[in-house]
Amino acid sequence: MKNKGLIFDIRRFTVHDGPGIRTTVFFKGCPMSCRWCHNPESQLDKPEKYFRNIPLDGRHFILEETAGKWMTVEEVMNEIEKDRIFYNESSGGVTFSGGEPLMQPAFLLDLLHACKTEDLQTTLDTCGFAEKKIIRRMMDQVDLFLFDIKLLDDAEHLRYTGVSNKIILENLDFLAGNRKNVILRFPCIPSITDSKSNKDALKALAEKYHPGIREIDLLPYHSLAKGKYQRLNKTDQHDDIPAVSMEEIRKFKEELEKTGMIVKIGG
Ligand code: SF4
Repeated sequence: MKNKGLIFDIRRFTVHDGPGIRTTVFFKGCPMSCRWCHNPESQLDKPEKYFRNIPLDGRHFILEETAGKWMTVEEVMNEIEKDRIFYNESSGGVTFSGGEPLMQPAFLLDLLHACKTEDLQTTLDTCGFAEKKIIRRMMDQVDLFLFDIKLLDDAEHLRYTGVSNKIILENLDFLAGNRKNVILRFPCIPSITDSKSNKDALKALAEKYHPGIREIDLLPYHSLAKGKYQRLNKTDQHDDIPAVSMEEIRKFKEELEKTGMIVKIGG
């Protein structure tokens, strides 16, 4: 659909998706299917019906809603422009997230150009799984990449996300080689990403890219998405993921800091 993109949410006043106060635009459609995904409504690249059960006075009302809406660049920019004063005051801007924004490259590029024309800071929150030529087309329009690194072992990556990590690691190398502003993001998922071997491999990656890349954010797992899976009639695979240990994450933060990286818990 020319000049339209599929968006499942636009959140104003976000503070964890880049610097300052931001508007985060969530693209619908993702090439991965991570076991721990807390945005299951983001995965399918077309609008999806879901049902909400509203209990009231012993009765149940079923509300049909749709996740995903086709929007023009102008419509998205109208939302973004509403909070310009807050971006200016806080050195904030706009974050494109998902899902995976790079799955809609033409629309994303149009939005990035529109933001640059309006002198707005741009952040791209990406899983990194995209053809290099797409990254190359975007990269000069993006001020900051929030780049997910999940599992360094390729077989494990394939098992838990549905895709190989090869292209992701190549894209990270490409961005680092071009001196782009990148913050790494590591989801701390008990029994999946928090194995000793994976954490050691992340540490080695941090050593490799520091000081060109200066920051890693550790994102603790939460299981708040259960209701979403039910509403979308999707299989929830969260039940066998244990609760997160903040003490373990704090210990890992200290380990990673030895590489010279700035390490934050949360975004
Ligand atoms: S990359 Fe993100 S949005 Fe896509 S499936 Fe994984 S956790 Fe969900």
